[in-house]
Amino acid sequence: MKILSDIIGQPAAVRVLQQAVVTRQPSHAYLFHGPESVGKATCAQAFAAALLCTNVTANGDACGECPSCHKFIAGTHPDFRTIGLEATASGQARWEISIDQIRQNPAKPRATPAPLLTDAYYHPIVGDWKVYIIDPAHLLNEHAASALLKLLEEPPPYVVIILVTSHLARILPTLRSRCWPVGFRLVARDLIERALLQHTDDFAQARLFAALCEGRIGWAMTNICREEIDAARRATIELLGRVLASRPAETLRLAEELREIAREALVEDAEEPAPAPEPRKGKRAANHTDANNTEEGAEETRGGMGGERLLRRSLPLVLDLAITWYRDLLLVSQQSETLISNEDFREQLVEQASQLRPERLRNGIVALLETKRVLARYANPTLATEALILHLQS
Ligand SMILES: [Zn+2]
Repeated sequence: MKILSDIIGQPAAVRVLQQAVVTRQPSHAYLFHGPESVGKATCAQAFAAALLCTNVTANGDACGECPSCHKFIAGTHPDFRTIGLEATASGQARWEISIDQIRQNPAKPRATPAPLLTDAYYHPIVGDWKVYIIDPAHLLNEHAASALLKLLEEPPPYVVIILVTSHLARILPTLRSRCWPVGFRLVARDLIERALLQHTDDFAQARLFAALCEGRIGWAMTNICREEIDAARRATIELLGRVLASRPAETLRLAEELREIAREALVEDAEEPAPAPEPRKGKRAANHTDANNTEEGAEETRGGMGGERLLRRSLPLVLDLAITWYRDLLLVSQQSETLISNEDFREQLVEQASQLRPERLRNGIVALLETKRVLARYANPTLATEALILHLQS
């Protein structure tokens, strides 16, 4: 079990939460928000454990040893629950948190476990609080969100609800205004590198993933052990070597190879496992400022673009791998070899760098970043990768 003091790179958030534990005066509702994979969910768990612990440390951490902590670790604490995306009866992943998870429908048989609004009115069994985590909170559907709002307007005194989201703009303003906001931020690279070295002895690998994850420590932790990522890195480096020496006639084939690497490396996104279309086109869609999501919904309704959607999710990783390679080439060409990420390809780096002008490398990095940018704005992945290869060739 992670305790609050274990959370890496979020000192401000941790301080506020530990303070709430020590003073035994938590807010009734929190809204944990910030980029994906920076530790929000882990922190929510650690905070819940600390609130429920009957023997908290002076810092405000769970002790890990009391009966309450034992139940928490075993996943059987009666005063704690996480509400998230559940599979449907037919086993399909849902893409929203439904009203049935929040409120009992009088026309339906009694749900077990009891929906949040029923459960919240039973007093805690073990300690002073009942803690609920709702994650991802931006996927509460409209009805679920307004039912939750009723609870937050007059919560029982022992209830603490933690909403977790990476899409703050998609949370109803009325919900937001009733929660204590706790912001999370991208984690510094050296902190991530140090954390990764507790899981691997491979210094080069830790440095590479700390560079690749762009501050998303959870991503680095999950993926450092995945062989597909390392295979993608090797394939990308090999491909880039051929691109540099290729002719325009080969552009289309090389672009297809790049897309193939991306397909093979597809990374499941831990925070949104279900494909999340945005079918509610009503007033919420009109309200929300997160333009990407409405477009994502539009893309879904055009249909038949599953492959494109997958590519849009996996190509950024491959582009990041390519950017670290180009950055390494630039570092080598400037005699700063100690800073390179692809330590195990040092020889190739030295050889390629000697053949390339720094200007071409800088242009390459710009082209890679631009491709990431247009993909995020729903450019066609086939056209975007072809344009990229053309840039890298010239
Ligand atoms: Zn404890």
